Amino acid sequence: MKKQIAILGSTGSIGTQALEVIAENPEMFEAYTLTANNNADLLIEQAKKHIPESVVIANESLYGKVRDALKEYPVKVYAGSDAIAQVAESGPVDTVITAMMGYSGLYPTIKAIKSGKRIALANKETLVVAGELINSLASEYRSEIIPVDSEHSAIFQCLAGEEYNRISKIFLTASGGPFLKYTKAELQNVTKAEALKHPKWNMGAKITIDSATMMNKGFEMIEAKWLFGVAPDDVKVVIHPQSIIHSMVEFEDGAVKAQLGIPDMKLPIAYALSYPARVCSDRRRLTVEDFASMRFEAPDTDKFPLLGYAYEAIRCGGNTPCIMNAANEIAVAAFLSDRIRFTDIEKLVYTALDKGTHIAAPGYEDYVATDTEVRKSTEENIKRLTLQ
Ligand code: MG
Repeated sequence: MKKQIAILGSTGSIGTQALEVIAENPEMFEAYTLTANNNADLLIEQAKKHIPESVVIANESLYGKVRDALKEYPVKVYAGSDAIAQVAESGPVDTVITAMMGYSGLYPTIKAIKSGKRIALANKETLVVAGELINSLASEYRSEIIPVDSEHSAIFQCLAGEEYNRISKIFLTASGGPFLKYTKAELQNVTKAEALKHPKWNMGAKITIDSATMMNKGFEMIEAKWLFGVAPDDVKVVIHPQSIIHSMVEFEDGAVKAQLGIPDMKLPIAYALSYPARVCSDRRRLTVEDFASMRFEAPDTDKFPLLGYAYEAIRCGGNTPCIMNAANEIAVAAFLSDRIRFTDIEKLVYTALDKGTHIAAPGYEDYVATDTEVRKSTEENIKRLTLQ
């Protein structure tokens, strides 16, 4: 039986690579449903090639365009964010890849968990914002969460066969992004084009900026806490510019296991879909030269304060990581539309954390309210910054 895959966010970087994995392994996987936010043209092209049962375009004004383009094809077309949550829970779907961007991934992920699907989690913001809620729902509805993020996939792979052994530490590797060697002063004037040039990974714009500020690594520390039940202080970030070791786990006897490979998201995507089996691939293999090139150093949280804020936010707990995430999403969008400087991102997140209303034990509605409120106040803070 072929596994039926729902890809939420099929036109993004993870989504398109997931479709390549499916196309390379047609005897194992089939695309059952594809969803996109605004990229109707690519969604139409993907639907014609993969003939899924259905597609959903979140932006309802694009419904007519997608429906007309696919009218000769046996593909159902829906629109709107409610439809995304509905297709995620459709009966035949085995695995839901959550590859949409940011906070918008939370609601459909909750729906998919409640229908007991396996979640191939590529939307880390879901766990950053509401990790406690997601974990309790996943255990209540017996939904399995398999990480797609390369570091967490590495940790997950290191943990195979270690079910009864306690993790004593996680070494979360980070490439350091494009500004690793920049001084604090130089960071003031970096451009969008420079920030979007990631040295190792080919990813979407939002996560590439998050990598450049190291917010991404802070998010991944929180993601690791919820996925693997470790204390934040036991997650040590290690700068490893070559991105060959994708992360490491230390056990109580001092043994450290690592997962290595060339930086290619298709490996963790395929592993999340086929786990516990592995999928054959002809991707480039590591060589002695790769091993010889490996370097490591400690992160600089003075230069990249967002990494430190993430540790503080998860220590505060409750809705604080949700506040951090909302401010960061708005700030990154403003940087990507040339409205603020690179270093304004950290200032805006700091202000949101400083001024935000703490809720110790938030429910779903509290996360929604916090997200809405912080987006609004961060927009106002951006206006104030740009008036100065
Ligand atoms: Mg990652």
